[in-house]
Amino acid sequence: MFKDLKGRRVLVTGSTSGIGLAVARHLRAAGALVGFHGHTAEAPETIAADLAEAGENAAFFSADLTRTENCRTLVESFVARFGGLDVLVSNAGGLVGRRGLEVLDDEFYDKVMDLNARSALMTTRFAIPHLRASVQATGQTSAVISTGSIAGREGGGPGSSVYAASKAWLHAAQRNWVKEFTKDRIRFNVVAPGSIVTAFHDDKDQATLDRISGTIPMGRFGTTDEVAPAYLFLASHACSGYITGQILDVNGGQICP
Ligand code: NAD
Repeated sequence: MFKDLKGRRVLVTGSTSGIGLAVARHLRAAGALVGFHGHTAEAPETIAADLAEAGENAAFFSADLTRTENCRTLVESFVARFGGLDVLVSNAGGLVGRRGLEVLDDEFYDKVMDLNARSALMTTRFAIPHLRASVQATGQTSAVISTGSIAGREGGGPGSSVYAASKAWLHAAQRNWVKEFTKDRIRFNVVAPGSIVTAFHDDKDQATLDRISGTIPMGRFGTTDEVAPAYLFLASHACSGYITGQILDVNGGQICP
């Protein structure tokens, strides 16, 4: 499966842990050339074995994507290393914190929007010329796959209004880019995870985790390995060359939009 991903050059933002790391590993297993990305200066221990095993076929890039200039540098560094970019997985993001509406301030709003909206917007912006060049060189569609969220669909948990809105923003922005770039044969799709076991849920106690599990028809959180294949499907021209502008919910039935 996903045989056409072999040799494809894919940058996965936020791939030192959690969902992004699983996506990067599944891409590697399919033979893709993968850029691992994180916001710490050095590659963390979590990916040391991946990098050693991949040799020339993977590299680590560090960038704080809350700043536009770093989004540009990340994309340009990846292209300099791999000679082009065929697929962008825009996954870096996070909750930042929980704030009720009456204690929200500009600083908190900026932090959440910079991490989840500006980072995806600007990384995608700087990727576009390279994705266009990829289409011309390979004849295949190129793809942007962003990590949205169930929160962008249903509003999110307590104190996460800005985070939920940032993901809804991303869902809508991707659909707008479909209108702008389908002529260039660049596809835009979103994977919207439900509740997936990652550091994202480190702020919750066991009772809260159990309560959330009770709202999921499958009765449990998903694993990162259960989410990753959705990204590979949307990255593969052979599997999804006629699919663009869609949100693929991977949530155990938690919501059925
Ligand atoms: P995670 O904390 O394991 O991963 C977050 C990633 O984002 C890390 O690789 C980190 O390096 C990167 N990152 C954090 N701050 C950054 C910054 N300033 N600049 C660049 N990169 C930065 O958590 P995760 O659950 O794997 O999250 C991945 C994505 O999935 C996020 O966009 C998150 O909003 C989304 N998501 C997660 C869930 C879930 O249940 N886990 C559900 C819906 C959406």
